[in-house]
Amino acid sequence: MKKPLGRFAYLVILLAAVSSTALAERRERLIDGWRPVHFDISLAFNDSLSELTSVKTDVTVTVLKKDIVMIDLDFGKMPVKSVLVDGSVARFAQHDDKLDVYLAGPATVGQNIKISVEYSGKPLDGLILVKDADGLPSAIGDNWPDRVHNWIPCFDHPSAKASVRFTVTASSRNSVVANGKLESRRENSDATTTWVWSEKNLISPYNMVVAAGQFATAELKTKAPVPISYYVTQSDRKHAEQGFSPAGPAVTLFGDLVGPYPYEKLALVVGATKFGGMENANTIVFTPNLFKDFLTAKPRSQRYDVPTGVETVVAHEIAHQWFGDSVTEATWADLWLSEGFATYFAGLFVEKTSGPMRFRSYMRDNAKAYLEYEKRKRTPIHDTETEKLLDLLNPNNYEKGAWVLHSLRGMLGDAVFLNGLKQFYLSRRSGLATSEDLRNALEKVSGLDLKEFFDRWVYKSGHPIYKVSWTPAGANSIDIKLQQTQPDDAFLTPVTLEVVTAKGAKRIKIVPTGKESSMRIRSAQPRRIVVDPDEFILKEVVE
Ligand SMILES: [Zn+2]
Repeated sequence: MKKPLGRFAYLVILLAAVSSTALAERRERLIDGWRPVHFDISLAFNDSLSELTSVKTDVTVTVLKKDIVMIDLDFGKMPVKSVLVDGSVARFAQHDDKLDVYLAGPATVGQNIKISVEYSGKPLDGLILVKDADGLPSAIGDNWPDRVHNWIPCFDHPSAKASVRFTVTASSRNSVVANGKLESRRENSDATTTWVWSEKNLISPYNMVVAAGQFATAELKTKAPVPISYYVTQSDRKHAEQGFSPAGPAVTLFGDLVGPYPYEKLALVVGATKFGGMENANTIVFTPNLFKDFLTAKPRSQRYDVPTGVETVVAHEIAHQWFGDSVTEATWADLWLSEGFATYFAGLFVEKTSGPMRFRSYMRDNAKAYLEYEKRKRTPIHDTETEKLLDLLNPNNYEKGAWVLHSLRGMLGDAVFLNGLKQFYLSRRSGLATSEDLRNALEKVSGLDLKEFFDRWVYKSGHPIYKVSWTPAGANSIDIKLQQTQPDDAFLTPVTLEVVTAKGAKRIKIVPTGKESSMRIRSAQPRRIVVDPDEFILKEVVE
C-alpha cells in the first residue's frame, strides 16, 4: 500500500492522532465460525461506467464450527435483490454493513456452502466510478483496508484469503483487467465485451480488484520472469514504457532474493486510488499523478531517468506482491510485515541499481520521517490499539519497520539475513504471517535468540538515543561509556563504535546490558568515537 508520494498524507494522520486517545484494544473481526474460500463474481457495467447494472457474486464458504445457522457476510448498502444458498432461495437481512444469510438448517463442520447474492447500483466506496485524468469514464477497485464489502459481500479482513474469478461485461470501448490470468474475452452482439480473469492463489479481500477504462495498454518491452503490462490514460501513454522501466528489474531482483514471483502476470494501472500506489495482487493501481512532471521532477534516478519517487513507488508496490499479497499480515497489528518489507525492499532495489550511497540516503530519509512522527505519537510497531485502520499507514509500519529489518541485517549479516527472509517467505507464502513467524524464521537460520530484539523494537515504542564518552585508564587504555538517554527502556541491540585516534581507526562492539554500559579497550586517546558507523540502527546520537 499505499505509499503516499508526498508526506502530506502523514500530516492528516498526525493531526488525527494527537486529537484522539486510543487506549482500548482494537476489535478485529477474526475468522471464527466460517471462512470464504472462493469468489465467483459477475459484474455488468452500464455504458458510461457510472453504475453496476447487475452483479451476481457466488461466495463459497467453509463452515468451521458446529451448529452454524447463519452466515454474516460483510456487505455495504447496495440493495440486495435475492440470495440463494446452494441454489435454493434463502432468507436474508441487510443491516449495518452486514448481510445475514440464514441457512435452511445447521451446517456441519467442513461443509462448503455456496451463497449467491444478486444486487446492482452504485457502490458508496471500494469500486471507484469516476472520470479518469482525460475525462473518460473509468471504474477502479480501491479497497484497502476494508472497503471491498461496499461492492462484494465477503469477510472483510486480510486474513480471510480466497481465490477469485471476475467475469466483467462493459462497453467494448474499454479494456478490463483484474486479478489473475485472462481466461477469456468475448465480444457480445450489443457492443459490449465480457472479460474473464481468474486468480487461483488465495488473496486478501483488500487485494481483489477490477479496473475498466479506455486505457492505453501494452506489454512492457522488458526482461522479466513474468509478462508485465501497463494500463494508463491516453495522455500518459508517452511516459509509460520509460516510467515503468524499473518494474522488470524489480521483479527479477525480488525473485532472486526471496523466491519466484507469486502470480501469473503483472499489470500496472494508473487510475483512481487514494494512495500513491495500491498493491492489489498482480494488478497494481498507481495514483493518477504518477507521471506528473515526469520529465522535469527532481531528484531523478540516474539509472532509469525517472523521478526517484516513481522508481521507489514502483519497486515498493512490486515488493508487496511477495510481502503483503502472498505472505499476508495475520492481523492489522502485523501490518509492518507488509509495509515495512515493501519500504525496505524498495531500498534494496535502490541499493542494487544505484549503489550503497543512495541506499544510505534513502534509509536516512526514512529515519527522519520516523523520528518526526515519534515526537507526536509513541506507539509500538505492533499496534493493537489504534482504531482507525487508515491511521496505521504511519511511519511505524513503513519507515521504522524498514529500519527493524535493516538492524536485523546488521546483526545477522547479509547472507543469513536474506536466507532468513527467504525461509520466512517460503514457509508462509499464499498464507498468513505474524511478527512471531518472522522471529522464528530468523532465529532458525541464525541460531540467535531474538526475543529481546523483537520485544524492544516491535512490541514497544521509541528508539535509542546514545551518548558516548571516554576516560583515560592508565597509559595505553581508555574506558568507553555508552549511555542511552531515551526516557523509556534500554535497547540491548549490539552497537558498533569506531574509535578514531591519531594512529587510525578501530572498531569495537558493545553489547549493552542496560541504559549504561562501559568497556575498557587498549587505545590511544581518541579524537572522536563514531556510534554505529555503518548506520544499521535507527537512533539519535547526542553529545
Ligand atoms: Zn505499501
